[in-house]
Amino acid sequence: MVAVRLADWLARRAASDGPRLAVVAGDARWSFAELDRRASATARRLVALGVRPGDRVALLLPNGPEWAELVFGVGRAGGVLVPLNVRLAPAELAWQVGQVAPRLLLHSSATERLARSALEAVPGAGRDASAGADGSDGASRKVPGVQAVMALSVEELATVPEGPGTGEPRPVALEEPHSILFTSGTTGRPKAVVLTYGNLWWSAVGSALNLGVHRDDRWLANLPLFHVGGLSILVRSVIYGTAAVVHERFDPEAANRAVDEEGVTLLSLVATTLARMLEARGERRFPPSLRTALVGGGPTPPVLLERARRLGMPVAPTYGLTEAASQVTTLAPWEAARKPGSSGRPLLPTEVRIDRDGRPAAPGEIGEILVRGPTVSPGWLAGPQGPLSPLVDADGWLHTGDLGHLDDEGYLYVVDRRDDLIVSGGENVYPAEVEAALLSHPAVEEAGVVGVPDPLWGQVPVAMVRLKPGQDVSPEALVAHCEARLARYKRPRVVRIVEEPLPRNAAGKLQRHRLRERWDVLRTAG
Ligand code: ATP
Repeated sequence: MVAVRLADWLARRAASDGPRLAVVAGDARWSFAELDRRASATARRLVALGVRPGDRVALLLPNGPEWAELVFGVGRAGGVLVPLNVRLAPAELAWQVGQVAPRLLLHSSATERLARSALEAVPGAGRDASAGADGSDGASRKVPGVQAVMALSVEELATVPEGPGTGEPRPVALEEPHSILFTSGTTGRPKAVVLTYGNLWWSAVGSALNLGVHRDDRWLANLPLFHVGGLSILVRSVIYGTAAVVHERFDPEAANRAVDEEGVTLLSLVATTLARMLEARGERRFPPSLRTALVGGGPTPPVLLERARRLGMPVAPTYGLTEAASQVTTLAPWEAARKPGSSGRPLLPTEVRIDRDGRPAAPGEIGEILVRGPTVSPGWLAGPQGPLSPLVDADGWLHTGDLGHLDDEGYLYVVDRRDDLIVSGGENVYPAEVEAALLSHPAVEEAGVVGVPDPLWGQVPVAMVRLKPGQDVSPEALVAHCEARLARYKRPRVVRIVEEPLPRNAAGKLQRHRLRERWDVLRTAG
């Protein structure tokens, strides 16, 4: 059988929509023709540096326009993109570099020190005299048993002479790896998930079939481009022929301005960024040009959804994960009133099933969320050179580790992560539900709930709460607030008011394992 090949997306777009706007970032406004030209130049430079088909190219860069030319340039050079999290500590990055063994690590002037410290810290890494593309001391490190890692800034890359005869558009097989993305590490060490061109293609198609594509769409990328939620905005925009507006970091005022004045029609948010955008907005309504705000990555408190609705923001709650190339299910904004609390139905190419001890659950029954379809990754890397560890079972189902239920119309309700489940006196307590009850109190800014051992009940929920500035409320009043909303066994046994922000990862997600550690410290301190 002949492998199905996809044409080079960007080359096709440049041919059909060359002058149209592809990327807006800071002062940069690139058309598809410009992006296409830049991607080819980047590919030629990468090849001149020695990047060969299948080599991994790591990016340690804050959001910026160069992401777009690198994403497509690396692809044209035949490389596999490895976006790295710029907020990690050197030791954490060193571990990731050791896992993927990139040929090249590209950084910016802002991340140069971090890149160097990370390479220094790769376990057992020695200096390699043969690599050093930039010739500077300590820029090149050898990952044990693998090749040398070159480190170069994007500014330096731009001065590398372009190699001849390469950088042409390149058709790709659906199963060819496009990138290796680390999960956000909410539950522990991030996993290096391989996403293929086919995974990204089907994800973009599934999203378009759900939300539609309008010719003048502009999708704001103000979440990190090194996570799948951000990266997929760049990929989708080229597939759709619409513009991606890239912000260097999340800034609520800038996000609101982008919607009000710069024609942004689509947003990808998590609960915290949604909250900050609404906070900064006051009572100003959103313009009708804002088509949809996808909100996912974690639970979204109903109070936030209600506030967004009042201001005319069409919110589409979504459930997704790196291993399935972002969106798995999405609720259309017009269904929100009929299906409160739901994350919607699976995108067309994707199937969702709830597993209850090895059998499909009945509607309403809580079990593990399983996902199957062409957006699901072929596997994750357990080490730099080994084979991929498949993520799916023998029937092709990805076991997500998340708990949820489907209603009788197939709408998904995500309950929580299986590992965060608190079992108290034989009853299941989902921390997200308790957090939502606390967050519905007007004085509460952040709430985190974990289970702690209890001699009588096995486990009981306890909460850490940070108040909004200038607010004062007692822990007892917060427990009382929960009494009206939660069954007795779900109510937090203890509420501690804390000053510092709760531990979150770069995606803004609450890290409950770190929360548990913090609780232990608080408890010991009395
Ligand atoms: P790691 O796997 O490294 O612990 P992570 O699970 O946060 O990190 P991601 O792929 O970034 O990795 O995030 C996917 C996870 O986010 C899902 O598995 C789920 O737990 C959570 N999530 C996503 N959407 C929702 C949602 N709508 N409601 C509740 N949780 C969600």
